[in-house]
Amino acid sequence: MLFDWGDTLFHAPHAPEVILSFAARSGVPMSIGLARALWDELWAAGKTPEEIAKGRDLSPEAHRRVWTALFTRADRVVPDLSRELYERVMDPHSWVPYTDTGPTLRAVRDRGLRVGVVSNVPADLRPVFAKHGLEGLVDSFTHSFEVGAEKPDPAIFLAAAKSLGVAPNETLMVGDHAVDAGAERAGMRAFILPAEFDGDVRGLDRVLSQLS
Ligand SMILES: [Mg+2]
Repeated sequence: MLFDWGDTLFHAPHAPEVILSFAARSGVPMSIGLARALWDELWAAGKTPEEIAKGRDLSPEAHRRVWTALFTRADRVVPDLSRELYERVMDPHSWVPYTDTGPTLRAVRDRGLRVGVVSNVPADLRPVFAKHGLEGLVDSFTHSFEVGAEKPDPAIFLAAAKSLGVAPNETLMVGDHAVDAGAERAGMRAFILPAEFDGDVRGLDRVLSQLS
């Protein structure tokens, strides 16, 4: 079973607080509600096909350039906020697992299935999982910057299946975005989690019901 990383297993819940505290230090009036709305707008903009097509997850340099350019629209609200957001929020080490991530990965492994993480990301995710004691629950990591291909390109899904030693037609890809459904073009099944969920519980138990 393959899992996407961002907004599927891990998330960046601290982004509105980063905006709030940077605004306070800059002397710009801001509420947590406004900060949250600003972040939601930026994050949604980052998930559009145009942004995804920019190849931002093929190298650390591209990642910084593309995301900082997108975040500059927030500089109108708080000067220099784009740089703060990139440094503080886009660092994978600052992301945290959903509360149901560990239990779900453990349950999948308990069923005798291998677990792979396949992510459009410019950095190695192993230390990020290790930080939360989850590295032992993942058999392989497939990063876009290493493969030289980004989801939805079938090449990255095929590389992930190969790294697990499984055939595409016996692989389920779990994600949160249309790019994850690209796994179907690689001959896999794909399961896309609902966009809406409650707090820091992602609703990953739905994945287990796919298995029975
Ligand atoms: Mg994702």
